[in-house]
Amino acid sequence: GLRLEAVSKRFGGTSAVDEVSLDIADGEFLVLLGPSGCGKSTLLRMIAGLEEPSSGRILLDGNDITDAPAQRRDLAMVFQSYALYPHLTVAQNIAFPLRARRRRRAWIRERVAEVAATLQLDELLGRRPAALSGGQRQRVALARAMVRDPGAFLMDEPLSNLDAKLRSATRAELIALHRRLGATFLYVTHDQVEAMTMATRIALLNAGRVEQVGAPEELYDRPRSVFVAGFLGSPP
Ligand code: ATP
Ligand code: MG
Repeated sequence: GLRLEAVSKRFGGTSAVDEVSLDIADGEFLVLLGPSGCGKSTLLRMIAGLEEPSSGRILLDGNDITDAPAQRRDLAMVFQSYALYPHLTVAQNIAFPLRARRRRRAWIRERVAEVAATLQLDELLGRRPAALSGGQRQRVALARAMVRDPGAFLMDEPLSNLDAKLRSATRAELIALHRRLGATFLYVTHDQVEAMTMATRIALLNAGRVEQVGAPEELYDRPRSVFVAGFLGSPP
């Protein structure tokens, strides 16, 4: 499991993340929910190793990874912008994280084909990102995260570039993928509907702090503060 112990991040005088403590069990689909600017991305980036906490500790299966480089963590990040390499084909984009790992070519080709099949990308392996739709790019970004078979996926608003119809279809795909892989999903969004439909647990953030953590229906039915009730639209 993943454990956050009083993790904080300050930028100059402002506190982006303020003593967040959280235990995330293996295989959870935890949604970090909250309004714009509440610190969701900063928290996710610290877990990914892309940002250094000002204080606090991050533990993965009991090991302190607070200062471990991003590549050494058993985690994969999916960005909102997908961050695909435009000059590489879909197959090369998916294979990219394997390049530094001294794998045999045949092994890499097989692994890419396997992941591509899971996400229905088989027909697109020779294309470049510019020739893909938003939803297809999103699946390539997911495939690239999957290829190393990480224990946890960190996703920062991965559906925000999609139109409403594709968003709800992809939401269902992600839920199915989570079940199939059995991996931990840590998913950032400011969309309460997305959180309510996908999460096994929600951590609702407000101004860098955790307001409440629990199952979606628990937060909705028993909000602990006016902020929680207001954000989830709980009946008064
Ligand atoms: P959104 O939903 O809009 O993506 P967020 O919850 O992801 O918002 P963060 O990006 O984590 O919010 O930002 C949290 C706070 O930290 C904001 O006030 C933001 O302005 C500030 N912040 C984030 N990154 C930096 C930075 N590199 N330098 C200074 N301030 C920053
Ligand atoms: Mg953000």
